[in-house]
Amino acid sequence: MVEKGDPEVLNMVEITRWIWRTRLPLKVRIFLWMALQGRILTKEYRAIWRSTMSTTCELCRVAPESIDHLFCLCPVLLPLWRTLGAATGRSLVFSNRMELWEQMRDFSGPTSARALAQVENLVIPATLWAIWLGRNKLLFARERFYVENIWDNVLFFISAWGCSLVGARRVRMVRGELQIEPG
Ligand SMILES: [Zn+2]
Repeated sequence: MVEKGDPEVLNMVEITRWIWRTRLPLKVRIFLWMALQGRILTKEYRAIWRSTMSTTCELCRVAPESIDHLFCLCPVLLPLWRTLGAATGRSLVFSNRMELWEQMRDFSGPTSARALAQVENLVIPATLWAIWLGRNKLLFARERFYVENIWDNVLFFISAWGCSLVGARRVRMVRGELQIEPG
């Protein structure tokens, strides 16, 4: 049973607050909030109502597609997380979604005044959003899933959101490092 003052509940409250305070597009904030609540329609979640449905992750086909699996554990996506971790000097390897939320919130600590730090804060939301869109295209439009496309989309979202956030002309990845071109 969840007790008042439970650290996990406090974290959820803080992370929820963080999500709504970001200046991410509204649909991305809604997606993050739903994922935090465990309510996005992964195959595992849908199978609660349709028990005959396969729950297997379409990307790796080795494990049920839960939120933890899709965003933290899917072996197809681990190289992407590792590369992004190297680009931001952080460990972006998570064993469950609470670790992921913690890291996402910690990115935007009080020391994030620098433009680059603000842009780096976008890495996790951009990656989750790109994975979710790519996975939906595979499932519902039968478009092939390439990690390279997810990578391109992550950079696209970081750049698009980052430019409006810090007033930059362009955000790009140069030799494995995020760089900002001032506007
Ligand atoms: Zn998988």
